[in-house]
Amino acid sequence: MNLAANLTATAQRRPDKVAIRLDDAVLTYAEFDQASQRIAGLLQQRGVRAGDRVALMAPNVPHWAIVYYGILRAGAIAVPMNPLLKGREVAYYLSDSGSKLLFAWHGFREDAETGAEIVTIDPATFGDMLASFPAVDEVAKRADDDTAVLLYTSGTTGAPKGAELTNANLTRNIDICAHDLFAATSDDVIFGGLPLFHVFGQTCGLNVAVAVGATLTLLPKFEPARALEIVQRDRVTIFEGVPTMYMTMLNHPERGQYDVSNLRLCASGGAALPVEVLTGFEQTFGAAILEGYGLSETSPVASFNLADRRRAGSIGTPIAGVEFRLVDDAGNDAAPGEVGEIVIRGHNVMKGYWGKPDATAAAIKDGWFHSGDLARRDDDGYYFIVDRKKDLIIRGGYNVYPREIEEVVYEHPAVAEAAVVGIPHDQWGEEVGAVVALKPGANATDSDIQQFVKDRVAPYKYPRVVRIVDALPKGPTGKILKREIRLG
Ligand code: AMP
Repeated sequence: MNLAANLTATAQRRPDKVAIRLDDAVLTYAEFDQASQRIAGLLQQRGVRAGDRVALMAPNVPHWAIVYYGILRAGAIAVPMNPLLKGREVAYYLSDSGSKLLFAWHGFREDAETGAEIVTIDPATFGDMLASFPAVDEVAKRADDDTAVLLYTSGTTGAPKGAELTNANLTRNIDICAHDLFAATSDDVIFGGLPLFHVFGQTCGLNVAVAVGATLTLLPKFEPARALEIVQRDRVTIFEGVPTMYMTMLNHPERGQYDVSNLRLCASGGAALPVEVLTGFEQTFGAAILEGYGLSETSPVASFNLADRRRAGSIGTPIAGVEFRLVDDAGNDAAPGEVGEIVIRGHNVMKGYWGKPDATAAAIKDGWFHSGDLARRDDDGYYFIVDRKKDLIIRGGYNVYPREIEEVVYEHPAVAEAAVVGIPHDQWGEEVGAVVALKPGANATDSDIQQFVKDRVAPYKYPRVVRIVDALPKGPTGKILKREIRLG
């Protein structure tokens, strides 16, 4: 189970197939494989050995994939980083991971105090640079449980930590995604608008494409009209995105002008997909959205809704070889029908957090990874996320799950995006607040939205404060960042 071997195998089977497209630039599997051999040559010359960490910081460009697979081919551990990180943050990731080398997209300030050697990826010189290194044909041997990638995530608490994903973790998740969930083949064209440094875009996008010989069509910065244009231009068959991507495409004034008829499957994950968005998107674009659930620590896919037996609002059922339990704070199984924290066991659970045995022990207990997500299971074994444990609002002793209230806010016809958060309150401990962005051209006041929710939920749950904003703060994948929303 060697992740790097997937590329070589596909390049042998389909050398001339387009692996990656970025507008007019195309990279075939043969070119991709050969270029990654040169990266392995560069690494060998720099003295990088199996198990050494090598960082990579670039937007969604074909070079990203070449360097990533080159690092893996050399048997080193890839450490992908968000290209928006600044010098001090970069220095933290590099020192925490002990990375010897950083491949950085041109423009990154090389004088930053990073403490590592930097190789600049400049498209103007990249080809010549590669040509100056020998091609290493051999794929370094790695054991199944050797770490292949360190993915930085904050986890449920604290500073970013490197989730150690092994060759077995990743190859099995890729295999399940490609075959069981997507039924992907080399005829597929996968939309690559999720950042490659994030686990979702990496496993389900790039690595699935490489495993089956499909084409990945990249979009470096998500923008709904551009995304729809690419879906039309490249006849995209598989779209992968976080809910905000589906929302912005659905609310785009020119949504009807694109031919998206080749789409056969849309996968959503990373955050809760409001049912209203799911049904609206399907009606508008005629393509089904299948929702999945997972985390960086679970490679990422842990559960999924298969096309022929899906449930709106659910994260589906655990994938093959993965088990879920719902537990209370003491680690005991929650009573049937009750909400509990999802704990996960299976081939997808990371080895641990790099260099952080205490954090690893707190996250993985008796082989069960504690997700920090609260859920409920129905009688048929489908899981429904009610919220993240830390986003739960406790108002005067009553639990208010923001997700439930957000679903109602989304039903309001003027609402494009919504987040429900807790506001510190003297009497109740916490009060419910909502931050809302309206659809282009739509009109509604804060009290309209408050009244709309008040009419539909128990009195202790409706938002006492509603704030209308232009847009909600979002992370690199487009997830709404609740921790950056302060009300009250
Ligand atoms: P990350 O490690 O960045 O992928 O974030 C993982 C977190 O995303 C999980 O712990 C969940 O809170 C959230 N998440 C992922 N998929 C879903 C989903 N389908 N519904 C709700 N939350 C999700």
